[in-house]
Amino acid sequence: MPTKTIQIKDQIVGGSQFHVWAGPCSIETESQFKQVAEFVLSQGVTGIRGGVYKLRTNAKSFQGLGKEAIPILKKLKHLFNKVPFVSEITDPRQIEYLADVVDVLQIGTRNMFNYELLKEAGKTKIPVLLKRSFSARVKEWIQAAEYISQGGNENIILCERGIRTFETEFRNTLDFNSVAYIKKETGFPVFVDPSHGTGTYKFVTSLSKAAMAVGADGLLIETHNDPKNSLSDSQQALSFDDFRALMPELKKIAPVFDRHL
Ligand code: PEP
Ligand code: MN
Repeated sequence: MPTKTIQIKDQIVGGSQFHVWAGPCSIETESQFKQVAEFVLSQGVTGIRGGVYKLRTNAKSFQGLGKEAIPILKKLKHLFNKVPFVSEITDPRQIEYLADVVDVLQIGTRNMFNYELLKEAGKTKIPVLLKRSFSARVKEWIQAAEYISQGGNENIILCERGIRTFETEFRNTLDFNSVAYIKKETGFPVFVDPSHGTGTYKFVTSLSKAAMAVGADGLLIETHNDPKNSLSDSQQALSFDDFRALMPELKKIAPVFDRHL
């Protein structure tokens, strides 16, 4: 089935362009987010990520700046003139103010089965990046996407971010079968998140290349100015040096897969 294309600002998702959307797991301070966003833009990314709300396993872990991040995002809005900014929504009540600053609503692995949240996202026209639950079958993931489209919002990008298997060496196991399936059997554009998919920065480059090879339309990658001191997901954040090295690797192989970036 041909992939549906979605225009977000100057970017077309689902066409020949291969997207790299990158940024920190969480927005921590204005200067940290500005530094990371300016850096990834200088490397040619076509989207910026940054968590405002973080659903953490440990209640004592950093939960994201929440509403405090909104003025920071308003101040830095000029950085997103041409490229989308993606951030996770964890509660329908956030739509009202996230809609002012977010171009793509991310629905995370823990909320893929939150049908009321999906229905609310379906009432907007804001593009949604729907991550796969770590315990969802591919069919369940597609059915979750239909909760959004049924409300009238057809702007949906799926994102494979790894599932739970018996393997314990990795935080999650990236399931590339699902990417091949989405591309062949559905019209949804699909991204891969090799950061959560492996949990370890040193595997991100290899799995990013594999994602392009299997037909993904883009990547969602975590990077940080000071990975060791990142307030969330420090093990999987690429340093600026690692990120700088990744982009030419992707550019080198892109023509083989009829992609450009
Ligand atoms: C994230 O992108 O930072 C995130 C929390 O993702 P996931 O829902 O896939 O764990
Ligand atoms: Mn993260």
